[in-house]
Amino acid sequence: MKKTVSFSKNSTNVFFHILTACNLKCRHCYINPKQHGKEILSLPIIESWLEAFAEKSSTANVVFLGGEPTMHPELSQAVKKARHLGYESITIDTNGYLFNNILEKLNPDDADYLSFSLDGKTRQTNDAIRGNGSYDRCIAGIRDAVKKKFNTSLIFTVSRENIHELPEMGPLISDLGIERLFIQVIGIRGKSADTERRLQLSQKEWLSVVPAAAADIANLGVTVTYPKVFLSSEEKFECAARVSENYFIFPNGRVYRCPLCEDYPIHGLQFEGNRLISTERINENDLFCLDIPEGCVMNKLIQPDNLIYDDYGMPEYKIACCLLKEEIHN
Ligand code: SF4
Ligand code: SF4
Repeated sequence: MKKTVSFSKNSTNVFFHILTACNLKCRHCYINPKQHGKEILSLPIIESWLEAFAEKSSTANVVFLGGEPTMHPELSQAVKKARHLGYESITIDTNGYLFNNILEKLNPDDADYLSFSLDGKTRQTNDAIRGNGSYDRCIAGIRDAVKKKFNTSLIFTVSRENIHELPEMGPLISDLGIERLFIQVIGIRGKSADTERRLQLSQKEWLSVVPAAAADIANLGVTVTYPKVFLSSEEKFECAARVSENYFIFPNGRVYRCPLCEDYPIHGLQFEGNRLISTERINENDLFCLDIPEGCVMNKLIQPDNLIYDDYGMPEYKIACCLLKEEIHN
């Protein structure tokens, strides 16, 4: 069954970057320490910021991110705190190196998912993007986590470098015992904005491969989620920042409502100590309310190369909110 997952209007989603340090140097890394800080947040600060969002919503989900979040020596305590605060779901996104014996410090019930990033079916393709040795370490990490009965998901960021291997991912995912696959589109942020713009896929490249590959992998019993990306002119466009509660938190206290804004100091919220306060305008909130025929305003500002116009100057399609997903579950 395929469905479009609209933004949940009843839950709060917290994407919590607890540090920006990482052992890898992926070519498409979106982390931007100049904008996001280089601090490793202390456990008391992590706990108090988790509390701030738990109070905002009776249904809150948290994803712990970095950098590489397992490099934080107190990640396990942060995860347990989130559980204690009643977060509905807790996910750790990892590159698979699983530092600080994290699998020994957590029980499978402490986190709902460990989500591993792998960008190729083959060692050659993945390591060309994510660095030598990263394929083997990620596969070993997944096997270890599955053996210890953690629920696992896989994140595959599609670009011109690896799209040819996406349709072949199914057997590997099944063999590893992974339950969910998240296909991501490469974002023109962080490092990609400087050097890797050519990796972004056109509408034709995306539509000719991704939906069919997702359906094939879902047929193997894996739940597959991928961003909608392109909307026809008849389809309704909605900006998640207008209608749902998503928060992208960084170690320097910046809190964004939209991931595409993260390269710029236009965050709408900021932690000062334990207090979450609104920032002065002009900020990202002033952009979300603009209606343009191209759909997403931030896309038009930072990655307009993915738009095509007809002879009358009208866009041939709209770009969907990056948070709008298709989900296939058989
Ligand atoms: S994409 Fe993730 S794993 Fe790769 S360098 Fe950036 S933070 Fe590290
Ligand atoms: S990606 Fe575009 S549509 Fe989605 S929240 Fe950001 S500005 Fe709004």
